Amino acid sequence: MIPVSQPFLPPKDEYDFLITELWNTKWLTNNGPFVQRLEVELRRHLLLPSLHYVSNGTIALQLALKSLGLTKEIITTPFSFVATTTSILWEQCRPVFVDIDPQTLCIDSTKIEAAITEETEAILATHVFGIPCDVEKIEEVATKYGLKIIYDAAHAFGVQYKGRSLLSYGDIAILSFHATKLFHTIEGGAVVNNCGQELEQSLKLLRSFGFTGEEHILVGINGKNSEFHAAMGLCNLKYIEEIILKRKRLSKAYDDLLLNRFARPHIPEDVIYNYSYYPLIFETEEELLSTQCLLRKNGIESRRYFYPSLNELPYLQERHDCPISEKISKRILCLPLFSDLKLEEVDRIATLILEKEMARAL
Ligand SMILES: *Cc1c(COP(=O)(O)O)cnc(C)c1O
Repeated sequence: MIPVSQPFLPPKDEYDFLITELWNTKWLTNNGPFVQRLEVELRRHLLLPSLHYVSNGTIALQLALKSLGLTKEIITTPFSFVATTTSILWEQCRPVFVDIDPQTLCIDSTKIEAAITEETEAILATHVFGIPCDVEKIEEVATKYGLKIIYDAAHAFGVQYKGRSLLSYGDIAILSFHATKLFHTIEGGAVVNNCGQELEQSLKLLRSFGFTGEEHILVGINGKNSEFHAAMGLCNLKYIEEIILKRKRLSKAYDDLLLNRFARPHIPEDVIYNYSYYPLIFETEEELLSTQCLLRKNGIESRRYFYPSLNELPYLQERHDCPISEKISKRILCLPLFSDLKLEEVDRIATLILEKEMARAL
């Protein structure tokens, strides 16, 4: 079976070496030396002044919303992982969905203004598959109406836009370091704060029960991550360039066979991309389903990512139509992509899909 994704694992002795140290120090969690070192190394690697390592990407989203004091309406994208929406609901805010751009699959920046009301406080948009949102236009609208911007950058590790880390755009960007992500710490995530010192302090407090020493300052939560997780991150970070390069080669191999026949999301100019996923857009849902079935019969897993469109979640109070997101989410399929995938396997997968498509087109 070829899985759709598989976590990168560092040489086991490198992880063991760090873990042995934990048996000596017995400092397993609570902002230990590995967590601190990982934060420093990630800031340096991603060229960011601020980065707070947390227990997962979802808690990073919660902390972002909480730290900015959001309580009302938040404009968001329907084409993302479910946590983008549920974090808004969990914080007792109301998600207002704005449809996506059919090229980038990110929120359509030209439709945001029409969705703004008296109650709108923020925009929470996803750099989906690591493709940058229209950050300039979003910033322009946000400035005009005094809105905060949060980017769900769970897919955007290492992406640069116009010579800057994509994570440096918006008031806050969040990352996920889940085992299925490009860079992982088994479970984990981060909050990147781009609005300066005051928020630094509240993020630290919010992550750790809202107190320092004996002083209880605000209502916090436990968003800390452990030394074991941070150790995995320290090991993996050494291989990140290699991981991205391998994925780039595999993506190009898919492209060579499939690009003439299938639609793919469009990556704008001036982007250094990270090859985090390989989504393919079919003409119809039937074609997607029959292709998925063919792949399964050949021992190849693929994933409908993202389906359904989040504006169609059953537990939402209000309905917002997002016809483009609804249509694309029915027709988009992610193919296997991970650093240990072999070029021959990509060839086999792409050839199966291509032959089926050519037979259909006859
Ligand atoms: C993975 C992911 C999350 C959630 O991250 P976790 O670490 O799994 O909690 C949020 N948003 C997007 C777009 C994701 O892909």
